[in-house]
Parts: sequence; C-alpha cells; structure tokens
Amino acid sequence: MPGRITSFVFVPEDRCTRKGDHRTLFAPRIKAIVAAAVLTILLVPRPACAQSTFTVDDPIASELAAMGKRGQVIAIAREQTLAILQSENACSAWFREADPDSAEVFRSLHYEITEHEPAFIFHMKDGQGGGPFKHPWAARSTQNAGQNSTVGLNSGGPFFSASSPVLEVDNKTTMQWPGGLHRLVIASFLGNSPGARITTLLHELGHIVGRIPEDSDSWDGLSSRNTEEVLRHCKHDIRATAAETTYRSSR
Ligand SMILES: [Zn+2]
Repeated sequence: MPGRITSFVFVPEDRCTRKGDHRTLFAPRIKAIVAAAVLTILLVPRPACAQSTFTVDDPIASELAAMGKRGQVIAIAREQTLAILQSENACSAWFREADPDSAEVFRSLHYEITEHEPAFIFHMKDGQGGGPFKHPWAARSTQNAGQNSTVGLNSGGPFFSASSPVLEVDNKTTMQWPGGLHRLVIASFLGNSPGARITTLLHELGHIVGRIPEDSDSWDGLSSRNTEEVLRHCKHDIRATAAETTYRSSR
C-alpha cells in the first residue's frame, strides 16, 4: 500500500480563491533558475562531458531534465531538500536516526507525475457553515521502499497547484455537488510554494526510510499527523530554505 500525503484541515469558507490565482506564484524564481541552468549548460565547452556528468554523477537530474517544466520544478525542490538533508541540523539528524544514509536514499529517488487524475477538495459539511476539508493527495511512495524507489506526484495536488475545485459532501446522504475553488495547502504552506514542495518530499522520504508510519488518502487524518511530525523536526530548516527562495526571487 502506498503512503500518501494528504491535507486534512479545517479552514473557513472565505479562504476560497479566484480561478488562476496560482499561475504566477514563484514563476520569477523558477524562470531565474531555469535561465541559470540553461546558461550553465551553454557555458560547458564540450556537451559530451556535460552529458556524462549528468548521467554518471546524478542520473536523477538527467531524468528530471527530460520531464519538461514540471521536471524543473521537481529538480529545484529536490536540490533544496537535499541541501537540508546534507547539512547538520535537527531535520537531517531526525532522518539519520531512521536511516544513516537518508540523504543518499533521497538522492537516489526517481519521480513520476500522475496526470489526468481528478483532483478535488472534498468538504464534509457539518450543517453549521463549517466542516473538514480533505485535499487531493500531493505525493505517494511505498513504505520502507528504500533506495532507488519512486515518488509519485499528483499534477493536480498541492505540489504543483495552488487551488482546486471543491466537491461538497453531505455526510448523511453522501450526495456531492460542486462548491467553487479553494486554496490548496500543506499544513501552513500554500500549495505550489517551495515550503509545500520541500515538506512533501520530506514526508515521502519519511515513508521510504520508515521514519513515519504508513498512511493513506482517507479522512482519518493520519497523513496530516505525519506531516505535523515531519514539521516538528524540519519546520525551521524548511522555512529558512523557502525564505531564501523568496528572498532571491524578489531581488
Ligand atoms: Zn504519508
């Protein structure tokens, strides 16, 4: 059974966002990094050497480079997450307790993007204007899968998207009907942000090295509790990395 990262949160109705709000979030930063990457490749005098470096030293970077724009988004989040895991901090120490080679396990992971899967935020109405929301899954992996396993990313989930259509659910009749758009979040991080992406990748690494228990895309809230556990140890380093990203993009 694959573990999935799913947000399960209570949020007021007035946090709904307009369609298209997510389009420009962090785009300047991504463009800058892509431009820098292209420039770096152009400046390498012998393309054969560049290809060799990609495939021998970091074959995953080569795989992501072949996955288009979303591959570039994953590559940036992967580098940021790897930087946390390869540094001495509370987050990397917590992962090393489960697997001393956690950083190397993370570096070996492959990625695949799930397309065309319906991505809805389900809202279980409580009859008093509130009730829980269950967000579409962001990522999935296999519990204790270890090195060279694969992280699946949902193209309609909060790794890539800032908002999603809502389906209102009546908990008595199980009837469903559309309810506009709503923001996607991973804990306190907005969807389609560096913080959401790094948190997602650390959560999946937690499953892959057995740091956190298996969970699922259900209403039981275990996925969100696993995310809280990841953030208890890693929030400081995630925020510092995400803030650095925002700072650089604003210069
Ligand atoms: Zn999970």
